[in-house]
Amino acid sequence: MQVLTISSVERNQFIDITREVKEAVRACGLCDGACLIYVPHTTCGVTINENADPDVPADMLAHLSAVVPRRADFRHGEGNSDAHIKSSLVGCSALVPVRGGAPVLGTWQAIFLCEFDGPRTRRVQIQCLAASEGRGA
Ligand code: ZN
Repeated sequence: MQVLTISSVERNQFIDITREVKEAVRACGLCDGACLIYVPHTTCGVTINENADPDVPADMLAHLSAVVPRRADFRHGEGNSDAHIKSSLVGCSALVPVRGGAPVLGTWQAIFLCEFDGPRTRRVQIQCLAASEGRGA
């Protein structure tokens, strides 16, 4: 398993980590299988979406904040309940197929670390999973 260290600079921020994930997959030497991208945190997440148009992640952040406002009638005393909820809405992992040593992504797809309680330094774990040989059934 490889671990990326990524620092956010905003409280809410999508950070494109596609290049770092591709480098990690290349470094692990996996040819065919999948890579699991996982964050061991409760106030950030991982998602795959478009980054060709930066308005897409901007819209996603804005509308997540509209669905889950910063201040509401929360019980959790740390003041970051919105971040915990957004983390679960987005999810803490993504699984991407690997073919020929590279993650298989669509033309417009990018892998994002989704920060909801920054600025912080986050760890992103990348676990390469080899495809089984299979029996061709
Ligand atoms: Zn908390």
